[in-house]
Amino acid sequence: MSRFLNLRYKKLTPYTPGEQPQDRRYIKLNTNESPYPPSEGVLTVLNRQAGEELRLYSDPEASELKKKLAARYGVAPENVFVSNGSDEALNFAFMAFVPERIAFADITYGFYQVFSELYGLQTQIIPLREDFSLAVEDYEHIGCPCVIANPNAPTGLLLPVSHIERLLQSDPNRLVILDEAYIDFGGTTAIPLIQRYDNLLVIQTCSKSRSLAGARLGYAIGCKSLIQDLETLRFSTNPYNVNRLTLKMGCRALEEQDYYDENCLRIIETREYTRSKLENMGFRCLDSKTNFLFAEHPSVSGERMYQELKDRGILVRHFDRPRIRSFIRITIGNRKEMEEFLRQVEAILAD
Ligand code: PMP
Repeated sequence: MSRFLNLRYKKLTPYTPGEQPQDRRYIKLNTNESPYPPSEGVLTVLNRQAGEELRLYSDPEASELKKKLAARYGVAPENVFVSNGSDEALNFAFMAFVPERIAFADITYGFYQVFSELYGLQTQIIPLREDFSLAVEDYEHIGCPCVIANPNAPTGLLLPVSHIERLLQSDPNRLVILDEAYIDFGGTTAIPLIQRYDNLLVIQTCSKSRSLAGARLGYAIGCKSLIQDLETLRFSTNPYNVNRLTLKMGCRALEEQDYYDENCLRIIETREYTRSKLENMGFRCLDSKTNFLFAEHPSVSGERMYQELKDRGILVRHFDRPRIRSFIRITIGNRKEMEEFLRQVEAILAD
């Protein structure tokens, strides 16, 4: 730390991203990326002409992409905010809408804690039930904004839209930030509710189901006044937050939605296959509606399973945190990758 750092940030513990190792080729099942490449139309964006156009700034209004996202979700372009990955939309939401205190689950996406520290917020940490499900009644009368990942990460568990609606109704003056990063792998989005509830902001990403993690594209959908507030902060921070190529690729991806829907089905099928194989080997897997599984084995610790898989060239994620130490989180890769993963797990258990 330099002696110049603003004291406000002295105690900040930054987010720890999943490993992106460069030392050898791993089967990467640790950061919930898609095993499938982006669609053809997206790839055609990456040509010489697009490269030459990089001398120009991107459209600060992201008009074409907003129109396409609006059409996809049955909302108006004024209901859409576009960001550099959904982490950035979450960042702006914290910046804009959380003055003092925010509530979230004890086991959820780690960035909520980091943003809370960044903005000096108090946190109300609400434990998930014993079975890791989220009890919306625990959030009903707390009198502060909350952020909920649905499906949750790393548990993978999904809340029905009816529970979200109940939460919105319980306190119309309280904002609910709903992080739907993994909604396309078996959930139903709550986006239609923004027409009736101005206290809902839904955040999604193109990193998972649309194979664009490296392009960095996220979006938020909510009532017009919420989006205007986010725009005020974006234009006060970085009006060109999404680069030209990514804006174009996002548009092409939305024109090729069928391809991504098929990929999601393939991933769901592979997830269920992997789950049943793991359960046959004695694992307990939570009921994931995402592109990952959260699993524990009665006789091998999460730490050991993570390390032994890594030694065998397979990366999964382990969280050294209370309640979930015994688990590993396994991103669903393609069928061949999962066969290799299962083979190696079997070998570790036989050791
Ligand atoms: N929300 C959740 C729950 C996530 O797991 C992730 C991925 N790390 C994100 C948001 C952010 O993803 P991105 O910034 O790539 O859109």
